[in-house]
Amino acid sequence: MTDTLPQGATIGILGGGQLGRMLSVAASRLGFKTCIFEPGGDCPASHVANYHMQAGYDDADALAKFAASVDAVTYEFENIPTSALDVLESARLIRPGREALRVSQDRLIEKSFLEGLGLAIAPYAAVNSEDDLRQAAAAIGSPAILKTCRFGYDGKGQTKLNSPDDISEAWASMAEAPSVLEGFVNFSKEISIIAARGPSGEVSCFDPGENVHKDGILCTTTVPAQISAALRTDAVLLAAKILNALDYVGVMGVELFVTSQGLVVNEIAPRVHNSGHWTQAGCAVDQFEQHIRAIVGWPLGDGARYADVVMENLIGDDMARVPALAKEPKTQLHLYGKADVKAGRKMGHVNRITG
Ligand code: AMP
Repeated sequence: MTDTLPQGATIGILGGGQLGRMLSVAASRLGFKTCIFEPGGDCPASHVANYHMQAGYDDADALAKFAASVDAVTYEFENIPTSALDVLESARLIRPGREALRVSQDRLIEKSFLEGLGLAIAPYAAVNSEDDLRQAAAAIGSPAILKTCRFGYDGKGQTKLNSPDDISEAWASMAEAPSVLEGFVNFSKEISIIAARGPSGEVSCFDPGENVHKDGILCTTTVPAQISAALRTDAVLLAAKILNALDYVGVMGVELFVTSQGLVVNEIAPRVHNSGHWTQAGCAVDQFEQHIRAIVGWPLGDGARYADVVMENLIGDDMARVPALAKEPKTQLHLYGKADVKAGRKMGHVNRITG
């Protein structure tokens, strides 16, 4: 990739879900084309992108063709197989880079990375057997949460241990997957900060949002988060520390617990993030445009918040509410064009301007 991508250049996006869709729209608004690499057909991003290459992440020929046909590569999800990255990276610069993916693909690696930066995280221990879990539970206490090291999302691949009696069942539910036991953090709120970093190292953060989850899935994000100015500053500083340490280029979501001891980092996502969707209604430049700006080498845009916003995810049967939502004032509706409504599936979101 050259320093700044020329107008009309094509951005390759790995993953064809709603994040890829909204990245494609943002890229198009800035005069770029997009090519989606996604194994599934009729995916949300393919409806708005210029090109859709439908192939698997194990298809080295398709990956090489994809890399050769685009001018830059980015992604909407972090679980891209290493073998696919090897093929892509030999042809094109991938932004954000490999280190961010290596760190965020594995909870254990992520935790030791965050610890190494001196950031507060939940107490944890690696678990590879029921015996490990017994020892970890004795050290960490209960309640605690057992999570698979890899491929967890939206609360999937996790189980709560309320007492040592839950150990056998909890380990059985992990299907032998390498896991990590985390102490349960007694938080007063969950917040997240969406941060961006450009190739020359400038960092810009959106205002932190306050998140409410239901069954492990994000339900609402409210801005401004009801937190002190000092905590807001801490969130910005820790996000910048993470981005700098990874020499990161692009947008990242950092999920945080607010505790009486300060902020505890839950996890990082090296991509645009569901809890950053409010920026579409609250900022001149939203997280999707900010990500595109960063990866093409444009200056980061103005992400200052000019409105209070509540973002609500539309999940599964919430789609039945669309006709009513469409009549609401001060409400921005985003639908992802997914053909099948399924329980727990993110179908769209609304941004309500509340002040
Ligand atoms: P995760 O997939 O790790 O983001 O977890 C999904 C949700 O589970 C979080 O947003 C929290 O609501 C909850 N959770 C995860 N880890 C912890 C923890 N160590 N302590 C308390 N709650 C947690």
